[in-house]
Amino acid sequence: DPSFVQTETHYDVELHEVVKVFNGEPAVRGISLKIRQGEFFSILGPSGCGKTTTLRLIAGFDEPTSGNVLIRGQAMDTVPPYRRPVNTVFQSYALFSHMTVRDNVAFGLRIRRCSKAETQNRVAEVLQLVKMEEFARRYPNQLSGGQQQRVALARALVNRPAVVLLDEPLGALDLKLRKEMQVELSTLQRELGVTFVMVTHDQEEALSLSNRIAVMNNGRVEQIGTPNEIYEHPRTPFVADFIGDTNLLQGCVETAEGSTLQILTDSGMRVSVPPTEGWDGAIGRALVLSIRPEKVHIGAQKMSTDENCYEGRVSTIMYLGTHVQYVVDLMSGDRITVLEPNRQGHLFAPNDTVCVSWKTQDCLAL
Ligand code: ATP
Repeated sequence: DPSFVQTETHYDVELHEVVKVFNGEPAVRGISLKIRQGEFFSILGPSGCGKTTTLRLIAGFDEPTSGNVLIRGQAMDTVPPYRRPVNTVFQSYALFSHMTVRDNVAFGLRIRRCSKAETQNRVAEVLQLVKMEEFARRYPNQLSGGQQQRVALARALVNRPAVVLLDEPLGALDLKLRKEMQVELSTLQRELGVTFVMVTHDQEEALSLSNRIAVMNNGRVEQIGTPNEIYEHPRTPFVADFIGDTNLLQGCVETAEGSTLQILTDSGMRVSVPPTEGWDGAIGRALVLSIRPEKVHIGAQKMSTDENCYEGRVSTIMYLGTHVQYVVDLMSGDRITVLEPNRQGHLFAPNDTVCVSWKTQDCLAL
């Protein structure tokens, strides 16, 4: 009966309430997440938030203090790292300097006692995949950073793992090469269909590469979602602030009329916002407002169509080519960052009196 065909999602990695404590200090404070088969999943957060520890718990280099790690539905409690269907690419690449590229890649197969013919075939195949066949006889110190990166990736892929774990894989590369390798990493992942779990503190990298992102803060996951969800609908002030730039204002609910809340900020501004998940219906409830710089407009005077409009003075201007960024000091004492497309029109100068405005729907209350 075809209606009985199961359409359940398959998860390659599951963490259930995973905690890791080092010497009485929690590094991971109870993480639950599910990573789908074939997904490019990123763990994003500031330094020290527990990203690498989370990756090491999946790899088996560390054991959870409590909670469970499952890979392909199997509990990993008693499974040592080398028996898990995962491979890790470290930031430092960890290539053996005394071995050629070919031997570096073959190493994992040799210790698994793969036959010579099979080893040769697989190494050739994976080197072709990362476009490094020509370099098979070279040593790591005869390669560029990007090439070493590809070898490290080849070495992780040669065992055909279910999941590749990547710890800041592009961290050692300069900006231009990093951008190139981002494209390659993304293409390769899509072609292979292998699940990638990448740790990064670079929000742009996470946004551009991932199918989904877990944003971590202080040992916890604050939000999991697609890049678009995370950017457009951050659920906490931390996520709004960490992903992209934003203007944050503290305030509380003054009135609620129909579909609009009136917020009185701590600095005395009145701001209209759409009703939000963060509001429990209470007047006087404290909320944090988030307005993205690209949603703020700057003008010489108030326009009749402006919804939330405030007078201020230009403090700094930064010319960015495609955009111009202004920092405006409002009469309220608040400081607002504005990102305007550069239309080659009038530019404001420091000390100009201006009006900044934004649409009610563009302001999030968290
Ligand atoms: P970064 O981006 O700087 O690498 P991270 O988010 O990867 O940071 P972790 O390396 O997971 O952070 O570290 C989280 C916390 O756990 C830190 O406070 C760190 O000092 C601590 N920690 C990590 N490993 C150990 C360890 N082996 N022993 C003791 N403390 C540790």
